[in-house]
Amino acid sequence: MAKAPGHVEGGHLGEFELIARYFAPLAKDAAALALRDDAAVLRPPESREIVISCDTIVAGVHFLPDDPPDSIAHKALAVNLSDLAAKGAKPYVYLLALTLPKEPAPDWLEAFASGLRALQEQAGICLVGGDTTRTPGPLTITITALGLVPQGHAVLRLGAKPGDRLYVSGSIGDACLGLRLLKEPASTKAWGLSEEQSAFLIERYRRPEPRGNLALLVRNFAQGAIDVSDGLVGDIAKLAQVSHVGAVIEAARVPFSPAARQALQHEPKLLETLLTAGDDYEIVAAVPESSAGGFEAEAAAKGASVTVIGRIEGQAGEVRVLGPDGKTLTLERQGFSHF
Ligand code: ADP
Ligand code: MG
Repeated sequence: MAKAPGHVEGGHLGEFELIARYFAPLAKDAAALALRDDAAVLRPPESREIVISCDTIVAGVHFLPDDPPDSIAHKALAVNLSDLAAKGAKPYVYLLALTLPKEPAPDWLEAFASGLRALQEQAGICLVGGDTTRTPGPLTITITALGLVPQGHAVLRLGAKPGDRLYVSGSIGDACLGLRLLKEPASTKAWGLSEEQSAFLIERYRRPEPRGNLALLVRNFAQGAIDVSDGLVGDIAKLAQVSHVGAVIEAARVPFSPAARQALQHEPKLLETLLTAGDDYEIVAAVPESSAGGFEAEAAAKGASVTVIGRIEGQAGEVRVLGPDGKTLTLERQGFSHF
């Protein structure tokens, strides 16, 4: 007799059972067909466009292999939700491609699924499918996220105009400090951080908070926007390049958390790292002067932190960073690049 799909031998979990046990409960939307078919079937609302984005995270590159599994799941989804927020899109559904180096322990999968569940519920997005495979390489997670916008209303990188104010959400540079702390725990002392500050920075690396609460504001007020994942300066340069504009960033205005400021005080050279290292998952929005009041008021009403850090001006594609003394900083690099 043929074995049922997912038949368990010696306690080992078949692929079908793994999907049914850990991922089907996250796929309640009818479109997912309970993850029992080859594909999902979507019926997007009429008059909406789909914004679609895909981001991979790799053990040893975007997270550490022994990071808590719920935080790995959180990060995998968060980095995708961040892209949707930057386009002004409302989260809709996502696909999960999970590539595992070995047979995962049930408690690892349980925690991984709970990390996904918590963030998908908070963001209002539903799992509708994916793929599960094994690799001789590192744990790799690819999520493809779909969001919705009214037709023609996605906010693109290319819309920034001379005179726009540049805003950034949240705080910059925490994650790169958190990673340094994980790799070199002695930095806590060297930077004069409290245990709480150190834990805060590590948490910012492991669990970036996607700024979904800004999506509607970005759509209503910004002409251009980008998700900051590869370094503030480098990502603003990307926005400037495709918008055919220049940009000026005033380092003194860039929002740093109290913990990052503490580290900076002990090691002022860190400034360049904070501005270029990436992993921030904040949103940069180019907002015309005439809309700035409305943008700030609505952000305040939502309790979302946004800070003006500069403006769109100068030669196309050129980004100038002014140091705390007002002089142009010469940076070794603008951002992170895999190649
Ligand atoms: P196929 O053999 O056609 O690739 P699979 O057996 O890989 O199909 O997948 C069966 C169903 O389970 C599909 O609906 C697929 O989208 C879903 N699925 C597989 N892996 C995952 C996963 N990691 N997360 C969510 N859904 C998944
Ligand atoms: Mg498959």
